Amino acid sequence: MSQVVLSIAAHGDDAEFCAGGTLARMAAEGHDVYLCIATDNDCGSFRMSAEELRAVARSEAEGSAAALGAKGVFLLGYTDGDLCDVKPSVLRGHVMRLIRQLKADVIFSWDPFAPFEGHPDHRAIAWATSDAAAFAHFNLYHPEQLEEGLEPHRVSEWYWYSKADWQLNKLVDTTGTIEHKLQALYAYKSQMVLTIDEFLEEARSAGVEEAILAGIDPTRYEPLVEMGVRAVDGKTGAQLGTAYAEGFRYERLEPPAIFAQAVAERG
Ligand SMILES: [Zn+2]
Repeated sequence: MSQVVLSIAAHGDDAEFCAGGTLARMAAEGHDVYLCIATDNDCGSFRMSAEELRAVARSEAEGSAAALGAKGVFLLGYTDGDLCDVKPSVLRGHVMRLIRQLKADVIFSWDPFAPFEGHPDHRAIAWATSDAAAFAHFNLYHPEQLEEGLEPHRVSEWYWYSKADWQLNKLVDTTGTIEHKLQALYAYKSQMVLTIDEFLEEARSAGVEEAILAGIDPTRYEPLVEMGVRAVDGKTGAQLGTAYAEGFRYERLEPPAIFAQAVAERG
């Protein structure tokens, strides 16, 4: 049965790095995939101005969506790095509106309970998404949305990104869609250049000799991005016995245990 899948990220490239192969696979299997990005990536460069980054935010997001086979992109337009300053109920309202509007069955986002999450935007969107998905079926939450004609809607599956391997309880074979993931990442040119610039900065700060780094051109990011993605997803794939995979902390709606027990006892 076709499902509606909604990915909610803080930044362009979050969903692509963490779940690009899985989202592309779901789209290829006939599910309706939508992407939401809360910020315009406008602190995400050592080279471009905030205005220049905002100017490319939509075209980069649409390029990624096309590569993944997503049906639509929603940009919330917040300032990169300042998501934690948005009132939590306001951010939750944005996500809940999308869940109700699209009737989303499956949610992808950062994990609100993940340890070692250092980015405040990731923490903010994780909690907003978790709270919105938990209460979108409550008609008294954000009643103004119902007055506009939206209906309460229950989410039934959650795929959370985690930076801690021991939290993963679902691995998805992405061997067939890793090329789509790479193309989706390449569509975020501003963020891929940043990724390599940051890599070089870290390497220099850690004392790597300049001669070793001299040949790396951040504007020709494809080979390094591909190497990194194939290494990470290959390591996850090895756990599953496939060439590539992505891992998540996964939850799904289950009948409450007390009812399951009652049904079992009734025979
Ligand atoms: Zn991010």
